[in-house]
Amino acid sequence: MKTRFLAGLAAFLLLSAACSSPSVAPAIPYDASVEAKVEKVLKGMTLEEKIGQMTQIAITAVARGTELTHEGDSILRTYKVGSVLNTPGDIAQSPEDYDRLVAEINRIAIEETGIPTLYGLDHIHGTSYVLGGTLFPQEIAIAATFNREHAYNMGKVAAYESRAANVPWTFSPTMDLGRNPAWPRMWESFGEDVYVNAEMAVAEVRGMQGDDPNHIGPYNIAACAKHFMCYGVPVTGQDRTPSSVAASEMREKHFEPFKEAMQAGALSIMVNSGSNNGMPFHCNGELLTQWVKEELNWDGMIVTDWADIVNLYTRERVASSLKEAVKISVNAGIDMSMVPYNCQFAIDLKELVEEGEVSMERIDDAVRRVLRMKVRLGLFDQPDTRLEDYPEFGGEAHAQLAYQAAVESQVLLKNNGILPLRKDLRILLTGPNAHSIRTMNGGWSYTWQGHGASRPEFTDRFNTVYEAMAEKFENLTYVPGVEYDLNGTNWKFDQQTSVKEAVKAARKSDVIVVCVGENTYCETPGNDVDMNLSANQKELVKQLAATGRPIILILNEGRPRIINDIEPMATAVVDMLLPGSYGGDALAALLCGEENFSGRLPFTYPKYVNKFAVYDYKPSESQGMMAGSYNYNAVMDIQWPFGHGLSYTSFAYSNMTVSQTEFTSEDVMKVTVDVTNTGERTGKESVLLYSSDLYASSTPDVRRLRAFDKVELAPGETTTVEFSLSAKDLAFADYYGKWTLEEGDFVLSVGGQSQQVKCMETVVWDEPNID
Ligand code: BGC
Repeated sequence: MKTRFLAGLAAFLLLSAACSSPSVAPAIPYDASVEAKVEKVLKGMTLEEKIGQMTQIAITAVARGTELTHEGDSILRTYKVGSVLNTPGDIAQSPEDYDRLVAEINRIAIEETGIPTLYGLDHIHGTSYVLGGTLFPQEIAIAATFNREHAYNMGKVAAYESRAANVPWTFSPTMDLGRNPAWPRMWESFGEDVYVNAEMAVAEVRGMQGDDPNHIGPYNIAACAKHFMCYGVPVTGQDRTPSSVAASEMREKHFEPFKEAMQAGALSIMVNSGSNNGMPFHCNGELLTQWVKEELNWDGMIVTDWADIVNLYTRERVASSLKEAVKISVNAGIDMSMVPYNCQFAIDLKELVEEGEVSMERIDDAVRRVLRMKVRLGLFDQPDTRLEDYPEFGGEAHAQLAYQAAVESQVLLKNNGILPLRKDLRILLTGPNAHSIRTMNGGWSYTWQGHGASRPEFTDRFNTVYEAMAEKFENLTYVPGVEYDLNGTNWKFDQQTSVKEAVKAARKSDVIVVCVGENTYCETPGNDVDMNLSANQKELVKQLAATGRPIILILNEGRPRIINDIEPMATAVVDMLLPGSYGGDALAALLCGEENFSGRLPFTYPKYVNKFAVYDYKPSESQGMMAGSYNYNAVMDIQWPFGHGLSYTSFAYSNMTVSQTEFTSEDVMKVTVDVTNTGERTGKESVLLYSSDLYASSTPDVRRLRAFDKVELAPGETTTVEFSLSAKDLAFADYYGKWTLEEGDFVLSVGGQSQQVKCMETVVWDEPNID
């Protein structure tokens, strides 16, 4: 096995030398003063100090709660550790405690090496790990807004509030394409589409980092685009199990959002824990070094995921010792190891350098990347930031932004005229998600698994759905019916506690609002084998339906739970996804019509457990009956399509134009369409532009989203929405992964309007990236 690996490595090194293209413009602009500072620091460093910069340790390995231990102090000093992560005590802490603790770590780091530390937290939907911070909807819900502004705002607020807690780095955004709805991290990403993930990630990166990646100001932080890549398509649907993505699809779909984020200045990326076609990402030099560092000419830093060098030995078994794992991952291009509990990595790496198994050039490259990030963050000039300089921390302005995002993220999937609800109706509110802040926030909320969000001291200032509805509706009765264990981590558990009482109350009501879905989980503990909504929750809905009262089904979930048997029982269905701390307020305002729905599904909602699908499927997945003796066919039977979402008003599309009917590869087409609010309420509409390549040498996707915009229109108002569509956007990666645009017909469509355009030439690019 080892010999095979070495042969592979040699082939890769040859290939990467051949492919290295210094002529490619840097993904992040070169800045001479940054480089001069990096070189100056690097010059004076010992090997141990360099390896220390490549080492990232978990705070729990060096602190008890928010106090550094003696042992921790000694670990930081002995190994000259350059980076620390995670929340102390595995639960959110106050900004004051962070300020003090990170400053102490900084003091030790500077005493030992003169180099400040790089502290990182998983602030993936706002400020998850600092008490009093602002929590936005999770990324899946931000995607549902189809409004880049919300991704930007979330990044900006998370940055400001992280800095208030003296933390300059966040492991976000996640841009794994969530294309297998069983995957327990589906909600951490922007859904199934390439373009939505790319656009939202870029907006979030800009919000976090500001406009100049070389000079990140004191209100901004470094982003970490993760998890590079293909993490969202495990074949089994279970977390951290293998994917099987072909080179063409990897290039065309999974790499795109990362490429866009890196070109937008993302200063770091984190690697996917899993493997693809037998090759773990953490030792894939072709992807880490060739695609990212050389072909893209990106000079940011690559960090591993949790213990993932160790996992090359213990889980993936591509290395027969920890030391071999260190060697193959660092040689593949890893710059920093999230060790996370002990520094054996540093010991092994030093030996490997001394034995000539890892070159000093590789070490220097990695250390330059770490130092560059610290310089760009301004940490050498100002290692610490303090709460008192951040008066907006957790304040009303940030809450308003999170609330607006929550309003725009909730998706009205069905409405047979019952919504909006009159405020004087007798309403029964029931279901396990009706009275919980925890379930609205999901994982990465105060604690990793999200159960910390049940602590009243953390969440008292927010309204559950019940509390928010009680403020709007005059005749509200709440009976849970089915309940979770909201303080524990056994998220799969629920039980019928008061179904009979709920049914009784339903009979005395005009309408039933039933909130069902999931309790919170994160990563591998969130694995599940049955995507059906739980039996207890379905039973509650069925018994309520038997009363004959109209049911409004509210889904509060991180991934689409199968509901095909209960959906017909509902007069209206809303998917609130994971709307964050203000999700209850947003839902109540939406239900009574004070706000209007405008969210759209960023994924395909499956109808059956054996029929998961994505919107950009292949034509053979939906085929009418074939003529002749053999009746081959295929049916695309789903619950709701990608992009589906209703409003209290209606919109009409007209006058679609395309600036040219024929195009060649360098052309940029202008597409316009008029959108009119034809209803009686003001509303926001996400306008989605799709393309379909009718015939191609690789079987084409049935359609692809190429652009979107969101507009607000008063009743009767019309606006013209204009998109620029580059011919290159219509290219696909062929079987061998080469970008290809082929002569032939394409259909562009938007809101039911469509135009056919013709590409007049065939181009196959040699360059790996064509924009
Ligand atoms: C997750 C990452 C996260 C890291 C640090 C890992 O288990 O996969 O998404 O950033 O832990 O907390």
